[in-house]
Amino acid sequence: MLPFAVTELGLLEGYQSQSKRVMSSIYRTLLTLLIAAGACSYLPVYAKKISPPPIVTPAEWGSNPHPIPDDKKQIPQWITIHHAGELWHYGEDPAEFVRRMQIWGQNRPKLEKPPRDTYWPDLPYHFLIAPDGRIFQGRPVTYEPESNTKYPLNGNIGVEMMGDFNVQRPSMEQLSACVALTAWLLQEHKIAVDKVRTHQDVAPGQTDCPGKDFYRYIKDGQFKLWVLRAKKGQKLNIVEGDALPDGPTKSINDPSTAKVPAPPAPLMPNSTPNLDLPKATPPTALQDSNSVTSPTSKP
Ligand SMILES: [Zn+2]
Repeated sequence: MLPFAVTELGLLEGYQSQSKRVMSSIYRTLLTLLIAAGACSYLPVYAKKISPPPIVTPAEWGSNPHPIPDDKKQIPQWITIHHAGELWHYGEDPAEFVRRMQIWGQNRPKLEKPPRDTYWPDLPYHFLIAPDGRIFQGRPVTYEPESNTKYPLNGNIGVEMMGDFNVQRPSMEQLSACVALTAWLLQEHKIAVDKVRTHQDVAPGQTDCPGKDFYRYIKDGQFKLWVLRAKKGQKLNIVEGDALPDGPTKSINDPSTAKVPAPPAPLMPNSTPNLDLPKATPPTALQDSNSVTSPTSKP
């Protein structure tokens, strides 16, 4: 009986160890599947790249940049946000605004008095956002920006929103474009969100740029939350705040800011036709970092 019992026990043990091996194999398979599933659920978060927002290229808006010296080359490390600091008039053409700004920068030595007479071969900013949300590409991000205020320029990507946010409110289109652009720039240049700041943060006491109605979203941290959502490819979910008690009430897209059309010029005999040549007059838009009229209104 004993051999049988041993044999039987042996068989039983055999079954038990085989059963253990099967179970262990199932556990291993399950564990592998769980790890794979876990990894897969995280993969899209890390691997997903957001697409660039639509950008009007320099060729498309008719840029005519001059060469920028090599000693102005940079590796982007910061995103610095501005407003133009000039009232935007409803109906203005943003492409014309950008072209005029470029021509003015190139002619500063002839047009401006020291210390504002420095030559700017290309736009002082890297991106400019129109009230309708269109993003215009300015100088290449591989070159530092320009400014009339004093702060370390090297490493900054300058993003400017057209308008004066001390007297008019940014449009939702502008806010959305600024968030989407900032998120994409952070991704492309591997910059952390805490490296997003505004002109007044980096040049305190020299400017109130980018205006109180935009700066509020920097102060309360909302802008960075919007950017983080955008960077993850989530819905933007931007909520415009109420008008500030001491701030502007009208949107930049309010038609009441339209320039009153000039009355038609009287027809003069032998008058010179208007050739629509680019004017070398400074766009007041360069109020940002350039205003000398009033230190309090200096953006
Ligand atoms: Zn500024």
